[in-house]
Amino acid sequence: MSAQLLKGAPVAAALGEKTSAKCAALREKGVVPTLAIVRAGERADDLAYERGAKKRCEACGIEVKTLAFPENVSQERLCRALTSLNADIAIHGILLMRPLPRGLDEQALLGCIAPEKDVDCATQLALGSVCTGSGGPGFAPCTAQAVIEMLHFYLGENGISGKRAAVIGRSRVVGLPAAMLLQQRDATVTLCHSKTQDLAAVCRGCSIVVAACGRTESLGPELFAPGQTVIDVGIGWSEEKQKLCGDVKTDEVSGIVSAITPVPGGVGAVTTAVLALHIAEAAERLLEAAER
Ligand code: NAP
Repeated sequence: MSAQLLKGAPVAAALGEKTSAKCAALREKGVVPTLAIVRAGERADDLAYERGAKKRCEACGIEVKTLAFPENVSQERLCRALTSLNADIAIHGILLMRPLPRGLDEQALLGCIAPEKDVDCATQLALGSVCTGSGGPGFAPCTAQAVIEMLHFYLGENGISGKRAAVIGRSRVVGLPAAMLLQQRDATVTLCHSKTQDLAAVCRGCSIVVAACGRTESLGPELFAPGQTVIDVGIGWSEEKQKLCGDVKTDEVSGIVSAITPVPGGVGAVTTAVLALHIAEAAERLLEAAER
């Protein structure tokens, strides 16, 4: 039997409804939720993500302003731009497209973003809040949050609690925060990486597997077991298949597990919906702070 395909579109639509309602309420109070996208250069990946984010945000009632700089922009110029966006009361969320061109100090520039406008966990403060579950300023990385939204939607609000979960990949933007968010929802989490011994045994013992190792179609049937829910975050080009694929060998694994996300059309479709929700929530928080 083939696994249930956990598509991202219905999850994104449900999040979109929630975001649209928040934006309508904000607009009634005179606030137009607005995202500033800051980009250096013209990387095709950045432009594609920007188009998707803009479309999703505008559909929910969020305005998007793009500040596009040449690839050879200076550190000081970008820093000045971010600082003035921090001070601009008409801007509620700031997204700095990464990776930045060589020669720029990415960490220093991410650190220029005001935590309360940090809608994609760019700052250390926001990541600290995610790791401690303190609910502090900023938001979880959109992709890591999208993993949780997928699981909530398809397994139910309590579907994570008590489960064993393996997260394959420990990057700051995906694996690590996804593991933290899962354990805050009472999963028992094993965070795996390139040095993990007997990855197959770890994964087979879990009922939820989140694949985020960035190695296209590298995770085969030996890692999986019946009954599992697999969230494939990976997205890369398969030379063999001449199409975009995830980190999991879906064709071989879908005959084993209960449910798996498709690539494309899975987690990626939810990421921009989470971004839009974060902008609306940032605008709500900023309005509340201004009214205090
Ligand atoms: P990354 O920074 O390259 O991190 C990869 C992680 O996987 C590292 O922690 C690495 O371990 C681990 N790893 C590599 N090979 C492994 C192996 N054989 N076994 C176990 N772990 C292994 O990648 P990333 O930025 O987290 O992205 C992960 C994937 O998600 C990529 O395919 C990316 O394109 C995709 N992505 C998707 C979205 C979306 O919206 N859908 C957004 C962002 C990223 P070490 O730490 O030991 O090196």
